Amino acid sequence: MFVDSHCHINFPELAQNIDQVRASMLTNEVGHALCVSVTLDKFPEVLALAEQYPNIYASVGVHPDYEDIQEPTVAELVSLADHPRVVAIGETGLDYFRLTGDLNWQRERFRTHIRAARATGKPLIIHTRNAAEDTLRIMQEEGAAEVGGVMHCFTESWEVAQGAIEMGFYISFSGIVTFKNAVALKEVAQKVPLASMLIETDSPYLAPIPFRGKTNQPAYVRHVAEEIAKLRDIPLQQVMDATTSNFFSLFKHAQPCN
Ligand SMILES: [Zn+2]
Ligand SMILES: [Zn+2]
Repeated sequence: MFVDSHCHINFPELAQNIDQVRASMLTNEVGHALCVSVTLDKFPEVLALAEQYPNIYASVGVHPDYEDIQEPTVAELVSLADHPRVVAIGETGLDYFRLTGDLNWQRERFRTHIRAARATGKPLIIHTRNAAEDTLRIMQEEGAAEVGGVMHCFTESWEVAQGAIEMGFYISFSGIVTFKNAVALKEVAQKVPLASMLIETDSPYLAPIPFRGKTNQPAYVRHVAEEIAKLRDIPLQQVMDATTSNFFSLFKHAQPCN
């Protein structure tokens, strides 16, 4: 079975159809999904899904794109992460694309998450956009390698991927890798060792081809895997086996349920 390592199924467009979303996962051999928190405010929704469904896991964190919201402290994140269904800290990171100006608060928030991850021993889910250099630098300064994690929805260069892999991080590919114009990213997907690879949807956003522009859902992670298999000229089964086993070795607190 596949695992969707990053989705937002607590968002209304998916949460309202959760039975259908879960049924579609099964039809497409997607056994598990990690529902990722973006604000403290919405964390209870994420946790509720993980408490209700044994094949859904939760993370806790505050996304770098949200400016005027409750700022998390290390202690708060550590305490919310102290729950068996919470398997990761994030999503966190830097985004210089969506927001500009003085983004020191974003870097501070990122440091807070890395410190919380180190304190809990739960790995990081890192979002980086137009900010690769600062992202890697802060990961290094804060000792992120100690807990590891994943560079989610990866769209950066092979050099950035290498920098993250050297710190023990996984590289997660989303539906973007299926887009025809994603030429450079397709090359990165050919180079990243299978042992360092995860797959995700980031649903409800970024639906892969042939669903581009529609609402994404965890079942579609299968199309990400199919694209990677095609790019590397290897059987789909090999992508499935590697990414699923990588998921459970990274997120040690996630118990497979089927
Ligand atoms: Zn993200
Ligand atoms: Zn996300």
